Amino acid sequence: MAPVPVSNSFEVRAQNGLRKREVARFLKVLKEKKEKILDCLRQPMECIGVHGDPNDHSSVQTDREFENCNRRRQSAQMRDIDSAIARISAGEFGICHGDTPEFRMENEDCTGLIELSILKTSPVARLCSHCTRELKERTQSSGKRKPAEPQLPIDG
Ligand SMILES: [Zn+2]
Repeated sequence: MAPVPVSNSFEVRAQNGLRKREVARFLKVLKEKKEKILDCLRQPMECIGVHGDPNDHSSVQTDREFENCNRRRQSAQMRDIDSAIARISAGEFGICHGDTPEFRMENEDCTGLIELSILKTSPVARLCSHCTRELKERTQSSGKRKPAEPQLPIDG
C-alpha cells in the first residue's frame, strides 16, 4: 500500500487567512513528520523496541500485533500528512471540511476556516473547533464510532 505521491515542487502561497510564512512553516512541519515516518517504516524493528513481557508466552505474537498496529497507524498518518500537503498545494489548507460529504455537518457555528491554534496543534486537522465539537457530540450520542451520517432533527 504505497502512499499517494505528492508533488513537492509547488509554490507556497498565502491562503485562507494564513500568511505565506505560516503556510510555509506548516509545510515544513508536515514534511519533517513525513520523513520521520518514512524513516520508521524503513527500519520497523528499531522503532518498535521491546514491548513483550518475558513471562508471557504470547509476547512474540503481541510484538507482531503491535508492529502491525503501529504500521497501520503510520500509514494512516502518512495519508493524513500527504492529504494536508496536497491541500497546501491546492490552496485549500485551513478550510474546514465540516460540510463536505465525508462529515455532512450543517453547523451554523462553522466559520469555514480552521483556527490557527488547531492547525498549530495538528497541521493535518480538517475541522474547525466548532465542527470538531459537533462531531464529538454526534459520535457520543450515537454511541458508536460510526462514520458521519446525516441525522434528522429530533427537536420539537
Ligand atoms: Zn467547521
